[in-house]
Amino acid sequence: MVTEHATAPAATAAATPDQNNLTCFFQGRYVRLGDARIPIMTHAFLYGTGVFEGIRAYWNPDEKQLYALRIKEHIVRLRNSCKIMLMAEVPSVDEFTEIVEQVLRRNEFHEDAYCRPSVYKSTEAIGVKLHGLTHDFYVLAVPMGDYIDTEKGIPTGTVSWRRSSDTAIPSRSKITGSYVNPAFSKSEAMLNGFDEAIVLTQDGHVSEGSAENLFMVRDGVLITPSVSDDILEGITRAGMFEIAEYLDIPIKERQIDRSELYIADEVFLCGTGAQVSPVASVDHRAVGDGRPGPISSRISKTYFDAVRGRLPAFRHWVTPIYASE
Ligand code: PMP
Repeated sequence: MVTEHATAPAATAAATPDQNNLTCFFQGRYVRLGDARIPIMTHAFLYGTGVFEGIRAYWNPDEKQLYALRIKEHIVRLRNSCKIMLMAEVPSVDEFTEIVEQVLRRNEFHEDAYCRPSVYKSTEAIGVKLHGLTHDFYVLAVPMGDYIDTEKGIPTGTVSWRRSSDTAIPSRSKITGSYVNPAFSKSEAMLNGFDEAIVLTQDGHVSEGSAENLFMVRDGVLITPSVSDDILEGITRAGMFEIAEYLDIPIKERQIDRSELYIADEVFLCGTGAQVSPVASVDHRAVGDGRPGPISSRISKTYFDAVRGRLPAFRHWVTPIYASE
C-alpha cells in the first residue's frame, strides 16, 4: 500500500485496530464490520454511485446514555438523495431509524460515535448510468471524537478548486463520488498549512467548507449562504436557525463575498462531523481578534449542551439509544 504525503496532518477519523469487530448492518443482516465486503465490480465502487449520511451519537456520562442526533432528518435527506439518484424502493424512515438505533445499540458504545447509513448501486457491471441498476444499503458505526478543533479557532484558507455546481452534480445530495470535489479542496488547504478549506462557487461567492456549512457575523447578524449557493442543505445549519431563535440572534441567508470574510466580526463552520468550529483566520487575515467571538461562543455552548441531551428545548434533536436503568 502506498501513502502519498504521509506527513500531512490526519483529517480522517482514526481507525481503531479492533474496528473489524464492530457490528454493522449489511445485506439484510447484522454482521461483523470486518466481514462486510463488496465485489470490486460493484457499480458504486466503479463510479461513486452511492449516497450516504453521517449521524453522530453523543455519550452523556452523567446519564450513562448515548444520544443519537437528528436521526430522522438524516434519513429524510438520505431518502431524498436516493430519489435524486434514481433509487426507488428504499427502506422507510421508520425502518432505517430502527436499523440505525440497532447498530448503535449492538456496538454498546460508551463514547461518542459516528454512524454511516449508505445506499449504493450494487449491480456488478461496467457502464456509466444511473437507471436500470440494483441497489442495496448498509449501516455502520465507529467511535469518533472531534473531526476538527472546536475550541481555539482554526486557520482556514480559500482554495483554487471550486465547489462542484448543482448543474454538474446535485449539491443537496450526499453522493459518494461527489466527495472527490471537497477532498481536493481539503487537501489543498491542509497541504498549504490551513486546518480547513473555504470553498467558493463557480462565480466566486462563498459556498461552504469541505464538509461544513459556513456562518459569519456582521454587526450582530448571523449570515449564511442560501441553499442555491451550491451548499449541502446541512442539518446542523438548520439547527443554527433554531439556536439563533432560542438565543434571540437575528439570522439571514444571502450571498457572501470572499472579502466579506476578511472583515467579518466572527466566522464559524458547522456540520455533523465538525460540530461548531470557530474560524480564527481566513487567508491569513485574523477574524476579529483571532479568538472565538461572543456569538460563536454562545451558539457553540448551546449546541454542545443540546447534542448531549442537556437542554429541554432541544430534546427533540436526540434519541436515547439505551433503555434507561
Ligand atoms: N457540506 C458538506 C459538503 C458536507 O459534507 C456536510 C456534512 N454532511 C455539511 C455541509 C454539513 O452538513 P450536516 O450538518 O448535515 O452534517
